[in-house]
Amino acid sequence: MFGYAGRILRVNLSTGKTMNEPLKEEMAKKYIGGIGLGIRLLIDNSKPGIDPLSPENPLILVTGPFSGTVAPTGGNGHAFVAKSPLTNGVGEAKSHGFFGAELKRAGYDAVIFEGKSEKPVYVWIDDDSVQIMDAKHLWGKSPQETEDVIREELGDYYIRVAAIGLAGEKLSRIACIINDKTRAAGRCGLGAVMGSKNLKAIAVRGTKDVPVAKPEEFLEFVKVLHERMKGPATVKYRTLGTPQNVLVHNSLGCLPTRNFTSAVFEGAEKVSGEYLNMHFVTKIIGCSSCAMRCEHIAVVPEGPYKGTMARVEYEPLWAFGPHCGVDRMDAIIKAIDLCNYYGMDSISAGNIVGFAMDCYEHGILTKDDTGGLDLRFGNAEAMIKLTEMMGRREGLGNILAEGVKRAAEMIGKGAEKFANHIKGLEMTGYDIRGLKTAAVGYAVSFRGADHNRHGAYALDIAGKVDRFKFEKGRSKLVIEIEDLYMIIDSLIVCKFSRGVYYKGFEDLAKYYTLVTGIDMTAEELRRTGERLSNLARLYNVREGLTRKDDHLPIKVMTTPIPDETVSKGSYITQEELDFMLDDYYAHRGWTRNGVPTIEKVTELGLEDLAHIVRGKL
Ligand code: SF4
Repeated sequence: MFGYAGRILRVNLSTGKTMNEPLKEEMAKKYIGGIGLGIRLLIDNSKPGIDPLSPENPLILVTGPFSGTVAPTGGNGHAFVAKSPLTNGVGEAKSHGFFGAELKRAGYDAVIFEGKSEKPVYVWIDDDSVQIMDAKHLWGKSPQETEDVIREELGDYYIRVAAIGLAGEKLSRIACIINDKTRAAGRCGLGAVMGSKNLKAIAVRGTKDVPVAKPEEFLEFVKVLHERMKGPATVKYRTLGTPQNVLVHNSLGCLPTRNFTSAVFEGAEKVSGEYLNMHFVTKIIGCSSCAMRCEHIAVVPEGPYKGTMARVEYEPLWAFGPHCGVDRMDAIIKAIDLCNYYGMDSISAGNIVGFAMDCYEHGILTKDDTGGLDLRFGNAEAMIKLTEMMGRREGLGNILAEGVKRAAEMIGKGAEKFANHIKGLEMTGYDIRGLKTAAVGYAVSFRGADHNRHGAYALDIAGKVDRFKFEKGRSKLVIEIEDLYMIIDSLIVCKFSRGVYYKGFEDLAKYYTLVTGIDMTAEELRRTGERLSNLARLYNVREGLTRKDDHLPIKVMTTPIPDETVSKGSYITQEELDFMLDDYYAHRGWTRNGVPTIEKVTELGLEDLAHIVRGKL
C-alpha cells in the first residue's frame, strides 16, 4: 500500500501480548484513517454499555494516510479514540506535532491498547520492536518530565512521546494526552482512559519510509499548497493566531464572559491576540512539515509568574480569561501551563473554574467548600490555585475533576443551571445564543459541546446567514461542513489549513489519490464524510444516546444576552431547538428521535451495523 502502512498493532496490557493485524485496502478507503478508522475500530473492539474507565474500553491511537509524508499540516497528525468518560459517547481528540509522523514511520496506521496493566507501564515502539516497559519511576511525573526521562533512559533524543500527567493517573475526566511536551489530544477525557489502563506513556521511534503513490505529482501539489498557505486563507494563523478571535467575538457580542453571564468582556483588549503578541509572544514555531507555523509561544516577562511559558490558543485563553472574568494575561498563561503540567484539557479546566466562580457568586459554594479561596469572578490568583487543586484532585478540585456535569450533580443546590456543557463535555468560546447556525452544530455534535465538529460559527460570524434566526433548510449548511470536517479529521490535516483546499472535496480527493494511489472522486469522498458522520452517530445510538442528549446548556436556553450589544436579548427557546433538530434530522435522513434509518445505513455501506438501529426506529 502507499500512504498507509497496512498494519495495525494490538497491545494487550492485561496479558502483555502484542500482535500485528493487516489493514485491508477496502477498510482504508471506506474509513480513511484518523477518527473515521478510529471510530470503526472502537465499534468493532468494544461491547455496548461498558464503563469508559474499565479495561473493556480500548484506547485507539490512529494516524492518517498522509502522516509521515511531507504533506503540509497532514504529515504530522494523530488521533486518539475511545468511549468518553465525560459523555459516554464517542470520545476523540486529535493532535499535531511530531509524534504521529514518527508512529507512521515506525510502520503503523493504528494501535489498539486493550485491557489494563497490573502496574504502571509505558509502551516502547521502536519500528518493528514493541516492548512494555516498567513506568513506576514515571508515575507522578508531568508529561514533559516523562518525555525527558524516557529519552534519557532509552538513549535517543529523537524518540517522540505521548504521555499523561497526574490528572490522567488520578482518572480525572478532563485529563488529556500530551505529545511533544506542549501539544494536547485535549478533549473528551481520553487521558483518564489511558490512566485507567496504567499506561503512562507511549514512546515511538520510526525510521521507515512512507511511500507515496505518485511522488512527482504529489510534490507538485504540495508546492501549490505551500503557496496557498502563504496567502490570505491562513493569514490569521500566521500572524495573531487564533487569539485574534477575542476582539472579533467581543465586537459581535458572542464572547462568553463570566460563565455565560455576559457576551461582552470589558477587559477584552487586555486579553486580546493583539495584546498577547505585543507583550508576551517571543517566537512562533510549527509542527513537522507545516508551512503555516501557527504556534505562538508566550513567555511571562515579569511579575509573580515570570518565566512561565505556554503555547496560547484562543480557546484556553478564553476559558481562563473572559470566561472567568480574568483580564490578566500573565495569570492566563500560568493557568494554561498548569494544564500542560498536570495533563488536563485546558478548555474544560477553564470552563469548570468559571462554573465554580458562578456557584460561589450565587452562594452555592462558600469558603468552607473552596478551602478558603475567594472565588469571585476576576480573582486570578484563586483561578490559578483552583486549577492546581483540580490537577492534584485536592479539596474542591477532586469534585471538579469529574467534569462540570458530574461536579454540578455532586454539588447540588441548583448548581446544574450554571454547568455549561453538552452531553457532559464543557462548552467552548462561542456564545451560541447569538450564533444560531452554530447552535444546531453544537447540539448534535457527537462528542458534545464543540465548535470543531462543524465550524458552523463561521457562517454566523461572516454574516452569511441571519445568525439570530434559524430558518428551515439551514441544517443543510451545517451538514455539509460536518461531513467535510469528518474527512479533514480522518485524513488528519490540520483544521487551520482548511481554507487552502479551494475546491473542498475535489482538492482533498486528489490529494488522497496522489498519496495512496486509491482512486477517489470528490463525490465519493463527500459520501465517505457522510458515512463517517453516521458511523459516529451509530456508536452513540448503540451507547443509548438519543434526541434528549442533543441539548444545549441551560443558560443558553433560559437567559437572554443582557449586554447593550447587537446580540442583546438573544437566546434559544426549547421550541426553537426542537425546530432546529427536526430540520437537522430530516436533512440527515434520520428519524425524529435522531436515529439513522435502515435505508440510510444501508445506502452508506454500513449495513453490517444495521442491528444497532433495529428496535430503535
Ligand atoms: S497550522 Fe499550527 S497546529 Fe496546524 S500543523 Fe501547522 S503549526 Fe501545527
